[in-house]
Amino acid sequence: MVIEAEVIPATTAAQIGGAALLFGALGNMATVIMKPGSVGPDPVGIWLTILILVLAIVAFVLPWDQFGPRSTLLLVPGAFAFIGFGNYTDPSPYVAGVYFILVGAWTGLCHPRFITLKLAPFFALFFWAPLYMVPHLDRLGASTAVITVVSVFIGESLGTLRTSLEESRRQLTESTERRLAALTRDSVDVTFVFGPDNTIRHVSPSVRARFGYTVEDLKEMPLDEFLRTKVEGLSAETIEALLMGTYVADEGDTAKEFRLQHRSGVWIDIEAAAQNMVEDDDIGGILVHVRDVTGRKVLEADLQRKAFHDDLTGLANRGAFRKEVRKLVDRGQEVSIIFIDLDGFKSVNDTGGHKQGDHLLQLAAERIRAVAPPRAVVARLGGDEFAIAVQLPVHTAASLAELLVTRLSESYTIDEAVVTIGASAGVSVSDAIGDGDQLISDADTAMYEAKLSEATQVAVFDPAMRSRRLEHIELRSRLRKAISDEEFVLHFQPAIELATGSWVGVESLVRWEKPGTGLVPPGAFIGVAENSGLIVDLGRWILNEACREAASWPAERSDTWVAVNVSPRQFRDPGLLTDIESALASSGLEPRRLVIEITESVLMEDIEAASERLNALRHMGIRLAIDDFGTGYSSLAYLQSLPFDILKIDRSFVIEATTEPSHLKLLTMINRLGHDLGLVTLIEGIETPEQAKLVEGIHVDLAQGYYFARPAQSHDLGLCRQSLDVLADQAG
Ligand code: C2E
Ligand code: MG
Ligand code: MG
Repeated sequence: MVIEAEVIPATTAAQIGGAALLFGALGNMATVIMKPGSVGPDPVGIWLTILILVLAIVAFVLPWDQFGPRSTLLLVPGAFAFIGFGNYTDPSPYVAGVYFILVGAWTGLCHPRFITLKLAPFFALFFWAPLYMVPHLDRLGASTAVITVVSVFIGESLGTLRTSLEESRRQLTESTERRLAALTRDSVDVTFVFGPDNTIRHVSPSVRARFGYTVEDLKEMPLDEFLRTKVEGLSAETIEALLMGTYVADEGDTAKEFRLQHRSGVWIDIEAAAQNMVEDDDIGGILVHVRDVTGRKVLEADLQRKAFHDDLTGLANRGAFRKEVRKLVDRGQEVSIIFIDLDGFKSVNDTGGHKQGDHLLQLAAERIRAVAPPRAVVARLGGDEFAIAVQLPVHTAASLAELLVTRLSESYTIDEAVVTIGASAGVSVSDAIGDGDQLISDADTAMYEAKLSEATQVAVFDPAMRSRRLEHIELRSRLRKAISDEEFVLHFQPAIELATGSWVGVESLVRWEKPGTGLVPPGAFIGVAENSGLIVDLGRWILNEACREAASWPAERSDTWVAVNVSPRQFRDPGLLTDIESALASSGLEPRRLVIEITESVLMEDIEAASERLNALRHMGIRLAIDDFGTGYSSLAYLQSLPFDILKIDRSFVIEATTEPSHLKLLTMINRLGHDLGLVTLIEGIETPEQAKLVEGIHVDLAQGYYFARPAQSHDLGLCRQSLDVLADQAG
């Protein structure tokens, strides 16, 4: 019945029936008016005609769809009754015959399951009975039988034809649906077909897994209800077009994002693509593919967050920072950038491990955030670099940078370990040119300057820094090449035993034989090498070279030690011990003949790690010297706990001691303290015989200086083998 209603709606069936009635009425009217030999119209015939007309009108106007498809069958007996009575009073068998055939055909077509044979009693009652009861009508007997048979036959044939058509159509639909269901059962997509009758005609079983509904929940649900209650994000026009069956997907934009309510009530992000297949016999509706894109959305949001956030600290990342700065600069606001780089972070990472390093970065980020003004943009640009964009005048930003550096340099407690690092900062302020990226780069340049400077940790950008920075960058790349080309040479400067005048060791001092320039002193490149990490490779070369040379000296120098300067970065390098071991092994130099010189700055960064490393070196039989003593923090306390052998007192003490008695006192005290701690004392930078005499007078053990010997290449060392006496004589 459902299918019947779909194929021929009740209204249409009633209209066809009504048309037949109309034909009957007109035919009846014609016979009433034009009956041969009649004097005037037959009043009964006229009334019957009017009644049939009314019945036809009723057939046309009543809302049959609301009464259901079977309701139009009510027209059948009515029609028969009237026609039959019409015949009774005024027989017009031809008209009636055609009419009956029409009624038969109509019944068969519109009500295929109504057996047309059921019409037979009506025929009998309203057609045959009058014919046989009224004597003068019997001439029509034969043709009425034919009419009856013909109309029943036509009705039955049409009915059967329609039933079988419907059956095959139903089977086709069922198999299509089964196939569709099978195809889409496990699909990630859910397929809907919106029928032209504005219901959900089909929904794939995968709807259960994706959205929690059973097929039964949604199938045949009115489309209007579905679209308005279960879908979010559709425009009024789209809903209208879907309901009207006129929806046409936009060109090139078939998949759109909406939300669909899960059976549990949760809204799920979906992507839907619709295709109007109303004209397609198999689909006969609007085919909609729906895909759950929640996972993709989450991923997209995640990627978005990742693209602009630093996962470790939760601060903005470089990309986001650049975007924000550009935005501020483009708006013409005065923006100051503070660029911060942590000093000594690498050693935390190397010695404490990445976990400790990460933790330190998080704590540093917290401190920066706490100090930064509320509206500042705070970012971690990568590694141990942070940046802040503030709408403050440059001098205020510089004070803020000072405060940040101070806060960052306070000690951190990480898993019960106390860690201390430093920080350098550069400050730049937006100018009329308004280039956000340049502004960040200027702050970076200023930071770089601050890092190289010994005097300050904060530098405000000035354009001259740019060229200095460029020089540095160039120097760095030149240096890299020089290391691989081994453009270096070692000079050695003897250390003289003041009591005997003999020299007990030499300090190796590197020089760069720069092609076209001549010898470049270490002061011009060690800083850059240290800063860029190139010192590790360069230092390895120096170690090997120094050991190789010392091992090759003649037998009478077999007790002479060679001292190698190791810079802070190189000292922290995890490969240092292996590098030293292999330098000793390949040269054959005895470990006792190697002295490693480090400066106090190495100890300041992480005393515990430094102590561990120094002890490891000591275990290898190597001697240790503390270089430039008195220029750094000069805490004598740590000297007590660390395994040093030689205390190298900075040359500034001797310069001042010759002019200022109070400085001589200081020098004397340092020397005595060194002795008390069991250290051999060495004074650097003796340039005059007075200075030599002075330090000898206070019992300093060893001395180095131009007065005794300038640093020179190894093969020249024999020439500078002068005793203190000879020199003193010369001076005298
Ligand atoms: P340093 O280790 O304190 O070396 C002593 C510096 O003082 C040397 O400078 C030496 O030439 C200089 N000097 C020696 N006697 C006198 C003197 O009587 N008067 C004056 N005014 N100076 C004197 P140089 O060779 O230019 O080295 C400078 C610094 O560069 C060194 O200071 C050291 O820190 C570093 N350096 C030198 N060679 C190396 C190296 O192979 N590796 C590392 N990491 N650093 C090195
Ligand atoms: Mg030295
Ligand atoms: Mg020194």
